[in-house]
Amino acid sequence: MNNDELWQATLAQIQLNISPANFATWFKNTKVNHQENGKVVVSVSNSFAKEWLENKYGKSILKILHSLDEKIKDVKYEVGKTEMKVFKKDSVFLPEIGQLGFQEFEIQKETNLNPKYTFENFIIGPFNELAQAASWAVSKNPGGVYNPLFIYGRVGLGKTHLLQAIGNEVVKNFSKKKTRYIPSEKFTSEVVSSIRKHSMENLKLKYRAIDVLILDDVQFLAGKEKTQEEFFHIFNHLYEKNKQIILSSDRPPKAISALAERLRSRFEGGMIADISYPDYETRMAILKTKCQERKINFSEEVLDYIASNIQKNIRELEGALTRLSAYQKLNNQMPDVEIVKSLLQNLILSPKKLITPKKIIKMVAEFYDLKEKEILSPSRKREIVRPRQIAMYLLREELKNSYPFIGRKLGGRDHTTAIHAYEKIIKEIKKDENLAGEINLIKQRIFSI
Ligand code: ADP
Ligand code: MG
Repeated sequence: MNNDELWQATLAQIQLNISPANFATWFKNTKVNHQENGKVVVSVSNSFAKEWLENKYGKSILKILHSLDEKIKDVKYEVGKTEMKVFKKDSVFLPEIGQLGFQEFEIQKETNLNPKYTFENFIIGPFNELAQAASWAVSKNPGGVYNPLFIYGRVGLGKTHLLQAIGNEVVKNFSKKKTRYIPSEKFTSEVVSSIRKHSMENLKLKYRAIDVLILDDVQFLAGKEKTQEEFFHIFNHLYEKNKQIILSSDRPPKAISALAERLRSRFEGGMIADISYPDYETRMAILKTKCQERKINFSEEVLDYIASNIQKNIRELEGALTRLSAYQKLNNQMPDVEIVKSLLQNLILSPKKLITPKKIIKMVAEFYDLKEKEILSPSRKREIVRPRQIAMYLLREELKNSYPFIGRKLGGRDHTTAIHAYEKIIKEIKKDENLAGEINLIKQRIFSI
């Protein structure tokens, strides 16, 4: 059996045991790269898939491979070469957008959707591929594949774009379906005003009639109990009738504090996909596509400067282009790299900032919506103990601080507490994908701010 046949045979068996949606999500674009001394190297499309395959399916994959070829004793997963893709169904679409100009798009009253956000102008890279694939699948079969679909990622990385693209695509394909996009803050204020005007029944009727409900930035529901309760009922009603619900947040459901448990478990009941940071190649692709859309032109050197320096936020990449194109129009000349540097000064982060224990503690506290004071306090409440242990773990793991130092830093505790915390988190990360995901997100924040 060659590598391809081996992998096809493995996939055929895996497919029998997991849902088609999961199969499509996690095993798409996988292949056996090579084998060496009983070790099979499988290439996957992104690090998120790698983590899932390793943690969730690793054992079964090895078992199947071993049953096919008993020389195989180990499997390793590797993220394959970066692929740049623009989602093209209709390759003449992009220039048309350029001609229209973004300002001319209007938000549609019925659906609250902005037609400028489409799949066609959404650029795909390893960082957002899963979220895009899931979104695309949902737009083709609302209520039929992933329900709810929950997309999370930091600000400026394309959540709203994707959510709205689903909405616009559904409107295009299923004109009879009632689709509605709403930011969570706006939903909250609708609930508040309905309470005030005693018109809650109307609000309920309005939402229950929707076929595809898109609620953006659900982290803003945190702590708003009445809104959560209303949304819970709407959610259940729609869900039971196989209506599609799509949600976004800046963090996974587990990490949204002050969210009623029953709502959290609903959010976790479907497909959860994250958007991480775009790699350099994708940042370049995004810049080039946006230049093309806007009919502007900058040298490769200028684009490289922007892509190398703005790494964490696609909105800022766009902001850089806007600024440079304004300069170009005003001065009627192409900016060179020196001018670009000065024009973009305040968009660009200063060179690598130092990571300090204080920063780690602050980021952990922020992530779990706690005050730093609470993490350092003597409290034994679970919702505080866990973040405190995570902070200890990160101090050890990232800064290699000594246990006595870590104990002292976290509210004057004994070094044995720090050791216990570190070991406990290490153990749990292995068992608990959610915890591993949360810690990854916290690390992203620590290294990006
Ligand atoms: P978020 O909701 O995550 O804060 P947005 O969806 O508002 O981010 O995206 C910020 C800006 O970047 C928008 O103008 C959006 O069109 C653009 N953008 C984000 N991701 C992509 C992408 N993959 N391809 C093209 N444009 C993108
Ligand atoms: Mg948004």
